[in-house]
Amino acid sequence: MTDKSYVIPPPPQATIAVAGSDKVFPVRRIWCVGRNYVEHIKEMGQDERLPPFYFAKPADAIAPDGATVPYPSLTKDMHHEVELVVALKSGGRNIPVDKANDCIWGYAVGVDLTRRDLQIASRDLKRPWEIGKAFDHSAPCGALKPVSETGYLTKGKITLKCNGTLRQDGDLNQMIWNVPEIISNLSEMVELAPGDIIMTGTPSGVAATVAGDKLECAVEGVGTLIVTIGPALK
Ligand code: MN
Repeated sequence: MTDKSYVIPPPPQATIAVAGSDKVFPVRRIWCVGRNYVEHIKEMGQDERLPPFYFAKPADAIAPDGATVPYPSLTKDMHHEVELVVALKSGGRNIPVDKANDCIWGYAVGVDLTRRDLQIASRDLKRPWEIGKAFDHSAPCGALKPVSETGYLTKGKITLKCNGTLRQDGDLNQMIWNVPEIISNLSEMVELAPGDIIMTGTPSGVAATVAGDKLECAVEGVGTLIVTIGPALK
């Protein structure tokens, strides 16, 4: 036997469901764009002219459509950020913008759940953002739809309702950096690979969400995602 023997059982592979299929997409890395819609940058008090930047979440932060996500520890101000998720079937380094769409397997609707109070405290202390962004269950993601069904997305409504009230209402055409530009730019920083997903930033309207909330998210032409916020874990 040539396989390595693990000293503990290997952790399960994180996956995202594929719409209309019993197959799943294996997740390697989750990259997130820190700012990509002008109105959201203004509501966060930032300078819209600065280029976007990236942070990461662990692959096992994925939570599926219909999940009840426990209210996380330490925070008193968890926010929702609805985002277009792009899933990659291929990668590379220094991918040209005009080749970047070739890397896309499909799209989904995701939520970048954020412990806003901890994120801002980290930012103000010039510390990393993980404690605010990369916590357990912080990346709910709906079923992926293959690009063969959606085409390459450049516009379409992106919305989030909380308990039936519309809170986030944007359009993919409001992105400052479009999806191929993000893939190309990110590939200058790290080598992208099959299984990587990118959360492409949120439109304005981010707000606090609490236990008992039902978040209904949608991206036109892609699908929907429903997440319920559950009580805090004891
Ligand atoms: Mn975000």
